[in-house]
Amino acid sequence: MLAGIAKQQGQSAPFAMAGPAPKIDIERLKALLDGVNAFGLNGQTGGFNRIGYSDADMAVRDWFADRMEAAELAVSRDAVNNIFGRFGPEDGPCVMAGSHLDTVPEGGAFDGSLGACVALECVQAMREAGIAPQTAVVVAVTAEEEGRFGGMLGSQAIAGKVTAEWIDAARDSDGIALLDAMRAQGLNGRDAVNCAWPKGAITAFLEMHIEQGPVLERAGCPVGIVHGISGVCFLQVRFTGVANHSGTTPMDMRADAFAGLADLACRIPAIIAETGTDQSRVTIGKVELNPNFAHTIPGIAAFSIVIRDTSEPVMRALKSSTLRDIRAAADVHGLKTDIEEKSWLTPVTLDANLHALLVGEAERLGIAHLDMPSGAGHDAQTMQSLCPSGLIFVPSRDGISHAPGEWTDWGYIEKGAQVMLNALVRLSSA
Ligand SMILES: [Zn+2]
Repeated sequence: MLAGIAKQQGQSAPFAMAGPAPKIDIERLKALLDGVNAFGLNGQTGGFNRIGYSDADMAVRDWFADRMEAAELAVSRDAVNNIFGRFGPEDGPCVMAGSHLDTVPEGGAFDGSLGACVALECVQAMREAGIAPQTAVVVAVTAEEEGRFGGMLGSQAIAGKVTAEWIDAARDSDGIALLDAMRAQGLNGRDAVNCAWPKGAITAFLEMHIEQGPVLERAGCPVGIVHGISGVCFLQVRFTGVANHSGTTPMDMRADAFAGLADLACRIPAIIAETGTDQSRVTIGKVELNPNFAHTIPGIAAFSIVIRDTSEPVMRALKSSTLRDIRAAADVHGLKTDIEEKSWLTPVTLDANLHALLVGEAERLGIAHLDMPSGAGHDAQTMQSLCPSGLIFVPSRDGISHAPGEWTDWGYIEKGAQVMLNALVRLSSA
């Protein structure tokens, strides 16, 4: 599918076309993002609440579909409320670009929304420059990316990665069934299995997203070109000791579940030094103690351990070192262990040709860029299972995301968006 890319990269002229080179209109892009962020704003906190299949999420999609129609795109929706706006030939394969509009509770102004807006701005800039693409460019606004129901439903549906069993079982953290949440918005979740695009229908997928971490900012770099996305191993562990009086039980006669947990937490840097890489992350993020009372030795510590890395062999090695140290910490403190692997998501390598194409466009534009992995999940990783996919990052101020303080400098956004635009022009010109 991308056989033409390597050849095109060798060309030094930017584009074979008449008229001015297409350019991002940053003011138009700002206005579009402001329009999106009129939906779901909590005036008290400054956070955005467009949770998948909430009223605000449905409303922003209708509004965005109107913006696509105003930009003279052919707009369509599928059963999970992914929205597509097609620019160029009605038939044949397409190049797809986009991201999501849903947010986490009290999320920020840029996560997902920026990528959806940039995709629409790119086709508007192409039209303005008089470009008639040979291959259609489809702007995609994906549904339920933030995982209210535990997946990335929109892109998984496009990629044919949802099963009827999963749809029937999916619940949010309040116990609301996906099928009920969708039904309340007039959607039939069971049709999610019919949303898949056939192989070959999408020749490439591009997404621009905020980094959601501090790496680009620390490097002083405006653009990241992502080569891969970390996998995630989720272990749920339970240490069981003996709850007892904190005053009468001598220190050497305790089976203190929290002491075992603390011991394990202190071993994490050594686990990473032994079997990890600089991409490795091991996190104990959720802890429940029982009885959780100031004057009682904790009898039970139940906690999560999440292991991430961009290499599957490294993840496996980290997991086995972690399991070994869980048992070692339990032995030291006289605890019984129960370990359950809740999920294992394999790391994803994004398309190497698309990565090279994005690097090439950044270089042609004289934009400094960093080759980097993503520690967070994105639609592009799901889409990679269907078609070659690429991901562009722009810096997050102070590395903050999923919070009202989320911010990206518009100068950086303009650079990242221009890389995306030039890549789309190139991909759609053949
Ligand atoms: Zn996102």
